[in-house]
Amino acid sequence: MFLSVFDVFKIGIGPSSSHTMGPMSAAVRFLDMLRAQADVAAAAIPAAVPAAIKVRLHGSLAFTGKGHATDRAVLLGLLDYRPDSLDVDEAEGRIAELVQTRRLHPAGLPALDFDPDNDLIFDFGPPLPGHANGMTFQALDKAGRVVLSEIFYSIGGGFVVTAAERESPPAAFETGAAGWPYPFHNAAAMLRMARESGASIAGMKRANELVVRSAAEVEEKLDAVWAAMNGCIERGLSLDGQLPGSLKVKRRAKAIHQQLLRERGANSSLPHVASDWLSIYAMAVNEENAAGGKVVTAPTNGAAGVVPAVLRYYLDHCAGAEPAKVGDFLLTAAAIGGLIKHNASISGAEAGCQGEVGSAAAMAAAGLCAVLGGTPEQVENAAEIALEHHLGMTCDPVGGLVQVPCIERNAIGATKAVAAASLALRGDGQHFMPLDNCIQAMRQTGEEMSTKFKETSLGGLAVNLPEC
Ligand code: SF4
Repeated sequence: MFLSVFDVFKIGIGPSSSHTMGPMSAAVRFLDMLRAQADVAAAAIPAAVPAAIKVRLHGSLAFTGKGHATDRAVLLGLLDYRPDSLDVDEAEGRIAELVQTRRLHPAGLPALDFDPDNDLIFDFGPPLPGHANGMTFQALDKAGRVVLSEIFYSIGGGFVVTAAERESPPAAFETGAAGWPYPFHNAAAMLRMARESGASIAGMKRANELVVRSAAEVEEKLDAVWAAMNGCIERGLSLDGQLPGSLKVKRRAKAIHQQLLRERGANSSLPHVASDWLSIYAMAVNEENAAGGKVVTAPTNGAAGVVPAVLRYYLDHCAGAEPAKVGDFLLTAAAIGGLIKHNASISGAEAGCQGEVGSAAAMAAAGLCAVLGGTPEQVENAAEIALEHHLGMTCDPVGGLVQVPCIERNAIGATKAVAAASLALRGDGQHFMPLDNCIQAMRQTGEEMSTKFKETSLGGLAVNLPEC
């Protein structure tokens, strides 16, 4: 299996990788497909020239799409914006223009009618069969005949696949695909390869990356990922006020950060204050995510705060921390994220929040354990401890917004990750429950979890609101 560290950590925008970045990427991809087809069709059958677009959102995308800004994301994608290069200010102006003119002007295609109010449909019927996050894109000619129709699934972490790809994944993602020096598809294989080669988990992951890009490019991109994560923490710590949406949730990271700075060095400081630092780093990221800011999937947007918080905690609070180890942290975390994605799910709509914050905590625990000197066995143990104690956690975002419980949940996920890494480092890596079994337990729990608790906002906290 090969899932690049840069597939796991993708720079994009909030508030959701599955409900924002995925639909945006799907829209971009549909336009690319249409361009490829329109070139041929226009020459052969003039009537097949596309003249309009319709989009239908299914399942969780329909139920919580408004709160997750899925509608805005689709518009951005149809305006040819990509998550990693979005200029938010420019995009807002173009969305306003689209709402007014109801016409798209994609490069390389004729003008296309698209009325955001009527041509973007939230379908509250049964979800599509392939995944809870389904989308149907259609291009129609002037007579209303379908020129191109495609189903996409947003499968978590910003990944998007067509219905056909969902049925048979591309070979590059298959176990043992040729060319990767360490094609580990589960934790047992990962540990065996580490034992046989003497390489660390980060070392094996780096060697896999070198098949597709140069060493300099790998390091440059890892630096860019950390710079984006840390930039997000800094922005979140510098802003206060209210987050967008009906809940009127206030940002808290900045105020708590200022308290912590004032208390620094005071004799009265309690040891568990360290967890407050962890919490504000995570909350800063998730407040930025909730505000639609620039965020790195880790492995998703909803769970984007855990990995940066633990990495910043390592750099700022652990004696002897080495900035040169940031890459090893990210590579180790990505290895664990890849195993979970391959063998279970990182999608809240598929597995509940255990798949998002649970996976993020396992990744962060593994990364921290590795840079603190853990052996591959201890790293695997750290990931397992963190994941095990998120099993069963549901996804129940209030109002369909990635705010309550998501922001605090990242803070607590980061705290659990540090505890898990620390506990693993106290042992020798031998432990009762292998990570692979824990991942299977998560998959089975997710499969049997009621859809009420899988990013539909139909159960849990989402239906137990305080009276105002
Ligand atoms: S509850 Fe968890 S899985 Fe659901 S949206 Fe929030 S962070 Fe994501």
